Amino acid sequence: MIIGDDGVIIIDPGLVMPVGRQVRKEFEKITNKPIKAIIYTHDHGDHTNAARAFYEEGKGIQVWARSNFGTESARNHETGFTGGVRPSNTQGFDLQPEQKIGVGVAIPPSRSLAPAMMPDGTQAPAAARPPSGKIEPTHTFSEDRLVLEIAGVTIELVKAPGETDDQLYVWLPAERIVFAGDNFYQSWPNVYPLRGTARRSTRDWIASVDKMVQEKPLHVVGGHTAPMMGNATEVLTNYRDAIQWVYDKTIEGASKYMTPDELVEYVVLPERFAKLDYLADYYGSVWGTVRDIYAQDLGWFDGDPLNLHRESPTKQSQRMADLVGGKGMLLKKAQAAMKTDDALGAAQLAQHVIRLDASNKEALLLMADALAIVGENTFNAPARNYTISSSNRYRKMAADLE
Ligand SMILES: [Zn+2]
Repeated sequence: MIIGDDGVIIIDPGLVMPVGRQVRKEFEKITNKPIKAIIYTHDHGDHTNAARAFYEEGKGIQVWARSNFGTESARNHETGFTGGVRPSNTQGFDLQPEQKIGVGVAIPPSRSLAPAMMPDGTQAPAAARPPSGKIEPTHTFSEDRLVLEIAGVTIELVKAPGETDDQLYVWLPAERIVFAGDNFYQSWPNVYPLRGTARRSTRDWIASVDKMVQEKPLHVVGGHTAPMMGNATEVLTNYRDAIQWVYDKTIEGASKYMTPDELVEYVVLPERFAKLDYLADYYGSVWGTVRDIYAQDLGWFDGDPLNLHRESPTKQSQRMADLVGGKGMLLKKAQAAMKTDDALGAAQLAQHVIRLDASNKEALLLMADALAIVGENTFNAPARNYTISSSNRYRKMAADLE
């Protein structure tokens, strides 16, 4: 909330209507000035769905966004990738309460609070899906920068593609505050969401953080996590430089014909960045960024000639089974790996058994146990959620056999 002379401006109303109403009540303890405008930094549900908690018809409230607002949701709608297992796994939607942690930027909502749209713009599961409180923009702009005066406050809306193509940041020149949308929060940026579909340009993201650096802000209010006060230019400079460093190092390694697997080991963040908490892998990850830069710039082929001649997964698993003397022996090897605390090894071997025999209960349960351990040992929240959700699914497959 920005408080002006005769009204207030709300940036990104939030994900859930009941929470939006609570926030409004708290805001009204600070000021009773009327709401003059709502600004969306981009069209993701966690920024727009609670708009109706702040918006009232007939009051002339302006709702601002960029003119390409909604392009990503429209594309997701077109492809049909608007829900299902991948987003659910990534957000941890189906995890048991005791399995849930924040996905770096938010604790997954319970089903009773499930909004129509998930934070990443996909549809929430159909169960208990209340209507979204999103208000369509009443005002849009297509310029690189638009200077506005609302409630006596001069604000600038600046085009900033990154986390989404329709992203903007809000610049408050008088107080040198930048409202970054989701191009900045206190975590390594999520340049590739594990749910797939929405491609995010790393190069655009770097350029947009650079734009914010050029404003020389004192304070930065991220789309998630606590604002950073007094050191915004330094923080955003590090953010920009760290992503750029990973980009350059990945391209350098790729030009030496390293594969993505090799690059993940090669691109290790230097200490000057690695020691910064706001660059840790809470939400996005360095390893995911390396893989995504490779995918964006070089595509699916990693240079390995055998990857031009891939055998089917079943055939590969059969080779593994033949090598050790059958799938029974493969399962024994998997169980032995588990006994030596090699959960990842156990999961890799159990997967071969399951491919050859999807009704092998022992293998399914071993897979579930192994993935649960791998998941709990994973630092990055979406990867952790994905792994533990998959563990739950294997356990359910085993239970469903009866
Ligand atoms: Zn967000």
